Amino acid sequence: MTLADAGRRPSDHDRMPEGQPKAPACGRCGPGTSLSFLDYIPEVYATDGSGLLPPSASYTCVRCGETGSHRVPTGWAPPGWHWYS
Ligand SMILES: [Zn+2]
Repeated sequence: MTLADAGRRPSDHDRMPEGQPKAPACGRCGPGTSLSFLDYIPEVYATDGSGLLPPSASYTCVRCGETGSHRVPTGWAPPGWHWYS
């Protein structure tokens, strides 16, 4: 019986192809490990008018050296991040 599946709308999936952004964490050491942040880009409005883009961050794990760069949850910022330039 797949009547329920036939009635599902895929539009919600199309809107978020990458899924929910996650807070930075080392893929080897796991969450809670100290990270050194190299770059942080606050949320911005997309130039093509598609809406607000989540912030993104680049980081290195201080324990194993693993690096990462991806979008992070809206409102997230590195610890000690200052907004004045
Ligand atoms: Zn690590």
